[in-house]
Amino acid sequence: MKDLPDILREYRVKIVPADVADLVSSSELGMRTKFGGAPDLIQREDERVTCPRCFRPMHFVAQIDSFEFNGKDNSNRQPYGEEQFMFGDVGMIYVRFCFNCLTPHATTECY
Ligand SMILES: [Zn+2]
Repeated sequence: MKDLPDILREYRVKIVPADVADLVSSSELGMRTKFGGAPDLIQREDERVTCPRCFRPMHFVAQIDSFEFNGKDNSNRQPYGEEQFMFGDVGMIYVRFCFNCLTPHATTECY
């Protein structure tokens, strides 16, 4: 694992409804961060995750892409070796939430 600073580079997020955000490509590596909808899973089949506390189905809340990936159309790209937000090999973090017992849950997948 490469050395990372204790505090990562800071970004701000502008949340835009998907029908408006379609003006911007969101299918390329590093550019797939989103809230809601269905998770864009890299490896597993789509599956409902069960809450580890109350065993009810959890809701998919967000996915966080490796948004510093050095892709040509990625405005947040960083040179190879200087990325901080690189989760494995251009992986993704998936965040789910149980609205019944207020339990968060995160998983990750990569190529
Ligand atoms: Zn729960």
